Formats: sequence, structure tokens, C-alpha cells
Amino acid sequence: MATNDPAVPTPERRWLRTFAFDPMSTRLTGRYLRLDIPYEDLRPGPIGQVVQVVDYDPVRKVWYSPLDLSDPSTLAQDGLRPSESDPRAHQQVVYAVAMSVTERFERFLGRRFSWHQQKPLRLVPHAFGGRNAYFDPRRRAILFGYYPADETSPGANLPGQMIFSCLSSDIIAHEVTHAIVHRLRRHYSEATNIDVLAWHEAFADLVALFQHFIHRDVLVAAVAATSGDLLKGGGLLDLAAEFGESSGMGKALRSVADVKPDPLAFAATREPHARGAIFVAAVFDAYMAAYQDAIADLLRIATGGTGVLPPGRLHPDLVNRVADEAARMADRFLGMVIRAFDYLPVVDVDFGDVVRAIVTADYELFPGDTNQLRSRLVEALRRRGIYPRPVSSLADDALRWPAPTEELTLGAIDVAAAVHEETRRLNRTRITQTAQSGTEVANARRLAADLNQWATDHAPEIGLEPGAAIAVIGVHATYRQGENHQPRPEVVVQFGQRRDDLENPDLDRRKRVAVRAGTTLIADLEGRIKYVVAKPLPTRDPASLPNDPNDPGCRNDKLGRARLERLEAWMEQLETVNALSPWTSEPALLRLDFAALDCADYGEW
Ligand SMILES: [Zn+2]
Repeated sequence: MATNDPAVPTPERRWLRTFAFDPMSTRLTGRYLRLDIPYEDLRPGPIGQVVQVVDYDPVRKVWYSPLDLSDPSTLAQDGLRPSESDPRAHQQVVYAVAMSVTERFERFLGRRFSWHQQKPLRLVPHAFGGRNAYFDPRRRAILFGYYPADETSPGANLPGQMIFSCLSSDIIAHEVTHAIVHRLRRHYSEATNIDVLAWHEAFADLVALFQHFIHRDVLVAAVAATSGDLLKGGGLLDLAAEFGESSGMGKALRSVADVKPDPLAFAATREPHARGAIFVAAVFDAYMAAYQDAIADLLRIATGGTGVLPPGRLHPDLVNRVADEAARMADRFLGMVIRAFDYLPVVDVDFGDVVRAIVTADYELFPGDTNQLRSRLVEALRRRGIYPRPVSSLADDALRWPAPTEELTLGAIDVAAAVHEETRRLNRTRITQTAQSGTEVANARRLAADLNQWATDHAPEIGLEPGAAIAVIGVHATYRQGENHQPRPEVVVQFGQRRDDLENPDLDRRKRVAVRAGTTLIADLEGRIKYVVAKPLPTRDPASLPNDPNDPGCRNDKLGRARLERLEAWMEQLETVNALSPWTSEPALLRLDFAALDCADYGEW
């Protein structure tokens, strides 16, 4: 009921209060946070277009009364004051953090993000009794557990006090990231090599950690407390402090500072969270180096040229400027990693692929690498033992994904039209986000059919089998800004293919491990293909290939043979080590899921 005349425009943003970053930390610091998220019309729940909170507690068999954020008394004061004892505050916290994380992805990916068939992700804040939280792809939901704090070692909590994983911003951000990764690369839940699940975990932790840097107050406090040396504490680089302490660990669940630089650790670490943590630590090594560099001039100005800080507190002006740099650098590094997503293979990713995707995506926008952020990251990863195996050097040229040897274009397929549609979507704000129109659906179908035909015609060149069905998994137009601030639209196409002929014929098709090939193509607006990121398999009919080792079809066939051998060896040893491996407590690859992965028994999520 609008009573203003003329009407006041609908707001674009909404502010909601959360803990910083969990109830324990808020108790210790007295600090709450305010998250700045897109405004949308909400039904009680909150139920929005991107996420939907479903607050049924199956342990107590009760539906908690849903929070109405449209009620003037919540609207006017940025939601409820966060409280452990009011389930509606829990609903608010999960909604706010999930929206904030999703929006950050959109910004870095340069396109609108939507869930499969535009169905919102469900958040269930009181889903079970237990020290865990996990994403369940089948239910399209994130399930948060709650549990009594450890009786003998509860940290800064009371023994036996109820701890809610849904109140930890870190846990929410981590699980929402799992869900987003699952949406962007569905087959990354199939652990076809040692890195796939570790990458899932690394990425979820990175997003959760970098989420700390968007809060100005927290950053300023951390810079002031550590005189700018962020590794020295301030909690900025710790994940899930309350969860870790209340579980009797005596410290945060994971901390960047705990992962010591050891070049041999990566090769020896199998468990996905621990392996992923090495990648995360390397990103923060590079981050810290770049940040120190960025503030060096400020410190020199502040110290009359010596750069050596006197004991005691920094001047508040200096704290503010240093915090600016810390935030700017965090944005740049998180952007570098998130943007790489479009350049990743469709299946069977490993950390070498991640390095190559980061370098390629960043090179496209910042070819000069002026502040050496990219080269610092590559070097930091190498020092921790993470680099792509087949490349000849760690120079940009060697690390970038290969361009097609001969010019390859999408021909008459009108990719510019797809870009045009994405522009329209970007121009719509989220509150008016509607289902696709009939014309949009028809256009998307036609584009997929054309691309499918194109892929069949060019299958050997792009690492796919012409004799097997090819699926168009995704077509996206993205907008990014490069060094020169010009928009850089690109079209990213993902193809996938299941190779029944290479699978074990003795088992039922639904019960055996799928053997998949997949290819990501990056094209410009004219349809010229810039990069082909293929995970090929051997061709069915080698006799059809020319006898020329430089022919792309022959090369892909050879790479495919090597890949299939690796895949078979991996699956075989997975069955053998299965009983010993914490994340394969269910038999082998097919039965892996996020619940087993973010497993309560190990206090990891
Ligand atoms: Zn996880």
C-alpha cells in the first residue's frame, strides 16, 4: 500500500545484521556486522528468488515461525538483532550471507547467476543434530546441524551450550560456494582424480576467507591490532572460530597461518580439506606479498623513509589507508580465482588445470601483469608444490591454455545474439528477475542445437568422439573489464560426453562409474575460438584419423589414451585404499557425496 505521491522508487539494496563472524566472536568483540545485499520482495521465510529458507527442525519435529523481513519493524532496523535464542535471527543470518556470497560471484563472473531452472537454493538452518553442515545436491539444499559444545574443552563457549552451524558466516559462505561450484561444474562432484574434491574444498574456503575482507570495521580492527601484519592474528585468516573451539579443538577449524610452507606436503596430502588448504595457503602467501608491497610506500611516508614502524599503535589515518589496500588486494586475488572458473575443464579438474585457468583468464584482462600479482601467485603455488605437470616453464606463454593450432570459428552461429541477451539480463535488476520469455527460451534452444551440430562436425579437433552423443552443458556470455577499463565480452561454451563404450559393461549403467570427456571453448564475439580446454578420451575408430602426429584429432586421441589409463589406475587404487580414506567411507568414487565429504566425524565441513 503505497501512500507516497509521487511514489518513492523501490530500493536497490537491503542491509541485514549478522554476527561477526559467529556468536562467539561477537561475544568477545561486541561487534555485529551489516551485510549489504540486493533488495528483493521477500515472502516470510525469508523466501526470495535466489535462496529460500526452510526452517523445519526434524529433531524437535517443529516448524519455526518464519521471519518476515517486509514487516516495517524489521525493515526499518536492518532486520532483527542477531540472537542465538531466536530461530528467526538464524533465518536472517543464513539468508543474508548466502545472498552476499552469490552476488560476489556474479560480480566477478561478469554475468547473472541463476540456479538450475531458476529454482532457488534451499537453506535449512536446523536440519539435524550434529557437528556438521553440508550441501545436498539432490535436495537442492544446504543442511545445517546444531550440537552441544564440548563438555571438557568448549573454548570461549559454555560446556554443553548449543552451537548452531547456521550462525557461522564462514560455514554458510563455504557451503553456498559448494552449491555454486556444483551449479557451474556439476561433474566436479565426481572424484576422478586426487584433486577434484580438494579443489571444491579449497575454493569454498577461499571464498569464505576473502568474505572477511568486505567488512570495513573488521579489516580496520585487524590492521590496528596487528600493525598491518595480518598474519599475526586479528582473526582475519581463521575459519570458523566458534565451530573449532566448541568442538574441543582449542582453536579455529582451519587457519591459513597453520599451513606451514613445505614443498613436500602437497604430494603427501590426500584428504581433500588438507590438500585444499595447501592451495589456499599459497594464494594467501601471494596475497600477503602483494599487500606488503602495496603498503610499503605508505609505511615509508609514515616513518620518515625508514619503513620501520615504531612500537605501539598505528595512526588511525594510516590504519585506514592500509585497510583500503588490504581490501583492494583481496578483491583482486579473489577475482583472479573466481574468474578462472569459466576457463576450467568440464570434467576431471586438477590443480594444474586451475593454475593454467587462472593464468589464462587473468592474462586476457591484464596482459601486462603490472603489479606482478599473477606471477606472484604462480610462484607461491610452485613453492608449495602446485604446478601443471606437462608445461615446459612457468612463463605466461607456457602456462596459458593452448589456442587452436589452425583457425577455428563457430562459423555462422550467432554468438553475438547470446551476448546481447546476457546484456539485457545484466541490465535488469534482481528484483524484476523473471522467468525467460518464450522468445528467449526458443533462442536458447536453437543456439544449443546449432552448437551441438557444430561440436559433432568438429569433434576430433576439440577432443570429443564424433560417434557418441554430445551434450551442450552451458553457453554463457560474460562481461569483464580489463586493465584499460574496456568491456571484454566473451562467450564460453561447455560440451560434455559420456563414453559408455569405455565403461564396465558388466554393471548396470546407472550403478557404474561414468567415463566422461568434456571441452570448454572460449570464443570472442565474432565466434573465433581463442582457447580449447579439453579432457579427451581415446577415439572409437583410430583408423579414421590421419597418420599425422600434429593433427589435432591424433593429438587428442593420444592425450585421451593417457588420460583413460590414469583414470583406470585411479579408480582401481580408490577401491583398494577406500577403507583407509576418510572421504571415501562409502565405497569408491560413485558414492562420494558432500555429506560424506564435509564429515562430522572429522569435524570438517
Ligand atoms: Zn566443504
